[in-house]
Amino acid sequence: MAKSKVLIVGGTGYLGKRLVNASLKLGHETHVLHRPEIGVDIEKVQMMLSFKGRGAKLVPGSFDDYRSLVDAVKLVDVVICAISGVHIRSHHILLQLKLVDAIKEARNVKRFLPSEFGTDPATMANAMEPGRVTFDDKMVVRKAIEDAGIPHTYVSANCFAGYFLSGLCQPGKIIPSTDSVLLLGDGDQKAIYVDEDDIAMYTMKSVDDPRTLNKTVYIRPPKNILSQLEVVGIWEKLIGKDLQKSSISAQDFLARMKEQNYAEQVGLTHYYHVCYEGCLANFEIGEDGVEASELYPDVNYVSVEEYLRRYL
Ligand code: NDP
Repeated sequence: MAKSKVLIVGGTGYLGKRLVNASLKLGHETHVLHRPEIGVDIEKVQMMLSFKGRGAKLVPGSFDDYRSLVDAVKLVDVVICAISGVHIRSHHILLQLKLVDAIKEARNVKRFLPSEFGTDPATMANAMEPGRVTFDDKMVVRKAIEDAGIPHTYVSANCFAGYFLSGLCQPGKIIPSTDSVLLLGDGDQKAIYVDEDDIAMYTMKSVDDPRTLNKTVYIRPPKNILSQLEVVGIWEKLIGKDLQKSSISAQDFLARMKEQNYAEQVGLTHYYHVCYEGCLANFEIGEDGVEASELYPDVNYVSVEEYLRRYL
């Protein structure tokens, strides 16, 4: 079967650049939206040029120029958006509504993958303020997609390893300590950690797959479904030493959260749901979902141990 032509929006982002790499690796004709707003951001321009050097096509277009979005989506079969959605960086999930309108007007797109790649927002109707904004906005985009009858796939990627795993599940830390760790509660809730390059590869494998059409793809690599204590245990084995452990109760965590600024509070709410409530692994995948490592057993995903080994 011929591979779909793909447009990646947000291709210069933390996840987006990995999607471009995976798309090129799998042999898709890969278009990357090049926004004039990146201006003289030399790193992004150089990144764009490196994509071009490896065969990607750079497509000029802007969220401030609706016609340019329509023209861009007309070039391809599949649109993948990885626009920002982390408040400590930036959060522009609702801008995608313009892209949904453009896809609706262009009428040629066989599949749209919006910027999701985290906790399944459909399971977070009771999420806490202020972090629920992430899930609410992603649900607004889902509704627009479904109301417009656009074929889609939602990717629930669980925890980006770079944020959660490398900090041993402690908010605000992205390098594992060799001395101590703060356990969130008892540290016994299971979460799911995925290397970001694996997220990109699973995502790209799903775009032409009839089994993932109008479904949510949950990325749950079996070896990477672990509690904070289990992650810490793997790290301790790697460094050959026990960490000094303390713990913070849910009540204290929430009280301290209130002292932080808005962007920090959004992130901390997400940690709360993941680490105290186990929101990622405490439900079975239903009929509207499929699991990525089962669909694509050929992807040799990075295990928690392999990931943490990088920090030795
Ligand atoms: P980034 O913050 O790296 O940004 C991605 C892209 O957003 C950039 O390439 C940028 O494009 C684009 N962008 C930013 N501002 C604008 C704007 N005003 N107009 C148009 N485009 C804009 O995003 P991430 O890779 O961190 O996040 C991608 C997705 O992954 C989000 O949905 C997020 O919620 C999710 N996520 C999940 C995590 C998890 O642990 N599960 C962790 C982090 C993110 P340009 O270069 O053209 O400016």
